[in-house]
Amino acid sequence: MRFLSILVGLGAAFILSGCIISNAPVTDRTQLVLVDAKKEKALGLSEAESILKNATLSANKTLTNKIVEIGKRIVAVSDDAKQYEWDFYLLEDPTINAFALPGGKVFFYTGILKLMSNDDQIATVMGHEIAHVLAHHGAERMSQQMVSNVGAQILSSVLNIPAEYKGLYSTAYGIASNVGVILPFSRKHESEADTIGVYLMKKAGYNPNEAVKFWQKMAEASRGSKLEFLSTHPSDERRIKDIEAYIKTLE
Ligand SMILES: [Zn+2]
Repeated sequence: MRFLSILVGLGAAFILSGCIISNAPVTDRTQLVLVDAKKEKALGLSEAESILKNATLSANKTLTNKIVEIGKRIVAVSDDAKQYEWDFYLLEDPTINAFALPGGKVFFYTGILKLMSNDDQIATVMGHEIAHVLAHHGAERMSQQMVSNVGAQILSSVLNIPAEYKGLYSTAYGIASNVGVILPFSRKHESEADTIGVYLMKKAGYNPNEAVKFWQKMAEASRGSKLEFLSTHPSDERRIKDIEAYIKTLE
């Protein structure tokens, strides 16, 4: 029954919002993305503005420039990246965290830099975060929610389509505002961001083997302490093995 409702929801979503099937870069995975790029970008931008209002930018020019340079060097090797307005921020905050918002705003905290031994390790997280943006993971997550919501609604009122249509985008906004920036991505999205990130960092001239070293270090750091970044990016044996295996395919 649940499967049927999802099917009906999918069908309705296709009809109502124009079916948007896209493919993730590098992995070429087929995705259902019902939030258009413009809306996705606007959501990310307004979130970025509110973060910047409440955060302190790092006063360390050297480190800030480093973050900006590494970010720019990675987006420069991706054709998909050209459609975004990228900005790379370093926030003065001891929290061990980094994230990216839909549309191209990337945030690093000074706390996470303390765990990075070289530019290649910074490029590891930079590539991973840029990958979430390029693969529209935020919009895809919203779309999945929309489809299951619509599915449930359609079953109870098949003929009430215009009203359902109205609800579709407001649902997306509602989800977006609840999501904040730290709701973890699914395992599939995390693993895909690792793949795309490693691909891009290597193409940009960074050493992908440092990605393995970085995640190993994060795995060790996670023993006995709770790190913000690890709550959304669990670093375990499987993640590290997958990255190692992918690097081999690039050689
Ligand atoms: Zn991630």
